[in-house]
Amino acid sequence: MKEKKMSNLHFRRRMEKHDEIHHKSLFNNLSHHHQPPNPSTTNPPNPSTSCPPDVEELGRSTWTFLHTLTANYPPHPTPTQQTETRQFLHLFGKLYPCGVCAEDFRAWMSENNAANAPRVSSREEFGRWMCEAHNAVNGKLGKQKFDCERWEERWRTGWRDGSCD
Ligand SMILES: Cc1cc2nc3c(=O)[nH]c(=O)nc-3n(C[C@H](O)[C@H](O)[C@H](O)COP(=O)(O)OP(=O)(O)OC[C@H]3O[C@@H](n4cnc5c(N)ncnc54)[C@H](O)[C@@H]3O)c2cc1C
Repeated sequence: MKEKKMSNLHFRRRMEKHDEIHHKSLFNNLSHHHQPPNPSTTNPPNPSTSCPPDVEELGRSTWTFLHTLTANYPPHPTPTQQTETRQFLHLFGKLYPCGVCAEDFRAWMSENNAANAPRVSSREEFGRWMCEAHNAVNGKLGKQKFDCERWEERWRTGWRDGSCD
């Protein structure tokens, strides 16, 4: 366990070093598309929350986006929708702004003769595939795996016990 923690720490440091330049250039590029905030109309930033995201905050937000994408995917997508979704995941695996995460994600998708290649022929299939992708990262980071039988409750319908109603 200690060894796993150490290797995760090492992994993170490696990622941070590797990505520093990429992060900066990416966010500099993004900043061209945004108007600077008008100081007279915005609240003063809270110094503890208004910081650039670290790998964890970025990850949480991205998983929210990815699982919500699957939750809103058509139950019966057209061939074009399926192709575009595969293209999106291919580009996502190249552009995700944590280089080591992206590299491992791409490697996972092509592992075992592409047994983990995106499955996008229905909402149910895509939702499960995303859950498995997330579990692969959970496993790598020593986190508990999520029960993929419940992906839809977590991300689309809310829990059966009504606690999200
Ligand atoms: C593609 C990708 C690759 C990443 N690679 C790395 C990496 O290499 N190294 C690194 O340090 N971080 C990586 N991250 C970030 C990492 O996965 C976590 O997002 C981050 O550590 C924060 O974790 P968390 O415990 O808050 O919950 P998260 O893992 O962010 O999960 C958010 C919520 O999703 C739900 N959830 C959890 N597992 C599943 C699942 N299998 N299916 C459906 N719902 C689920 C839970 O309700 C959980 O609270 C990656 C993120 C992404 C999107």
